[in-house]
Amino acid sequence: MAEKTGRIAVNTGYYAMDIKEYPIPEPREDAMVIKIETFCICGSDQHFVRVETPHAPGTEGHEFMGRIVSMGSRANEFIHSYGGELKVGDRVAVYPHITCGKCDPCMTYGDGVCGICDNDYIYGGVFDQNESTIMNNIPDQWPHFKGGFSEYCYIFPGTYVWKVPDDMPGEIAALLDPCAVAMRAVEQVLTPIGGTGEGFSTTSRCLVIGAGAISIMTAMILKQMGAKQVIITDFLDEKLAKAKEIANVDVALNTSKMTTEERIAKIKELTEGGAHIVINGANHPSSCVEGLQMVRKCGYYVEIGNAADFGGAGIMSEINIPSVVFEKNAHITSVIANTPQCFDRAFDFLKRYKELPFEKLITHRFTKLEEIIPVMKKMRDADFIKGVCTFEE
Ligand SMILES: [Zn+2]
Ligand SMILES: [Zn+2]
Repeated sequence: MAEKTGRIAVNTGYYAMDIKEYPIPEPREDAMVIKIETFCICGSDQHFVRVETPHAPGTEGHEFMGRIVSMGSRANEFIHSYGGELKVGDRVAVYPHITCGKCDPCMTYGDGVCGICDNDYIYGGVFDQNESTIMNNIPDQWPHFKGGFSEYCYIFPGTYVWKVPDDMPGEIAALLDPCAVAMRAVEQVLTPIGGTGEGFSTTSRCLVIGAGAISIMTAMILKQMGAKQVIITDFLDEKLAKAKEIANVDVALNTSKMTTEERIAKIKELTEGGAHIVINGANHPSSCVEGLQMVRKCGYYVEIGNAADFGGAGIMSEINIPSVVFEKNAHITSVIANTPQCFDRAFDFLKRYKELPFEKLITHRFTKLEEIIPVMKKMRDADFIKGVCTFEE
């Protein structure tokens, strides 16, 4: 009998991916294999095909969900499942990180805290090229399927998954990772560091900079949690209209024609003195410099958007530290560390998809691996929020 195979999109260069075919692996006793139903394209995925020296060859895609097709005899002992015991046929959404549990950050902050583990393994993370372990991103090496831009994925021991209810659309469940980033951003402002009681409350005036998918979900969460005012800014009217429609923000403001000084003055005017909470989802360093000046004294500033040197140009920024940092006494933090527990709260939030219009975030739907690059080329278009592939049965 011919060996069953599956396909993977493998990075090969600047805006280039090859579709490769490999045998579907038989899982070891501690692992399982899922057939991917849906994956989303993230801004960081696009970043990795835009850089001049791609980290090729690797499989991208860390936002995905699928159906279990085979399980090792002891997989339930080694895979952490929210929703109970797993079996073949179950649909699962996947936590894209596996932490080592042994390094100093893991020992200090707990196993499962991604982004800070010294040995963080990421599904679809193109940096993992260590041949001495099967947990790498080398498609030629068994078990081949190690990311979301693929028809199958090998689920390694130590992975956290969420059982996806039968009636929950795959494209909603696949939003788990970006939704968890939004959730974590909001949770960062809940607990006052330093104990002066200035964390998020129903009196908070909040500013979200940028109207991408994560920013819109951040605004949704802030609204649902009862913020007094949620303002979202962007340079594109199409994105602002989406934010208004999906998150029901109080103000959707196009700041493209304003100078830095005008933007800061406008936010101070709208918030009567500066936002209590500023969450930056835009990915240009100037948005951070401005955002820090829009926050009120003792407020919160959370960085999400400047996650990588997206321009590749090493853009540096200068700020006046005494007035912008010291005198503000603001809490400045970022979202790189996240936890399965926060993902679980995000998954619970996504389960409200019948009441909250998450599906409107998905502006570009497609069904084939071959369409990843063409869709990625549209990610800077005004009407682009989220690109999602759902394979045909
Ligand atoms: Zn992502
Ligand atoms: Zn670790």
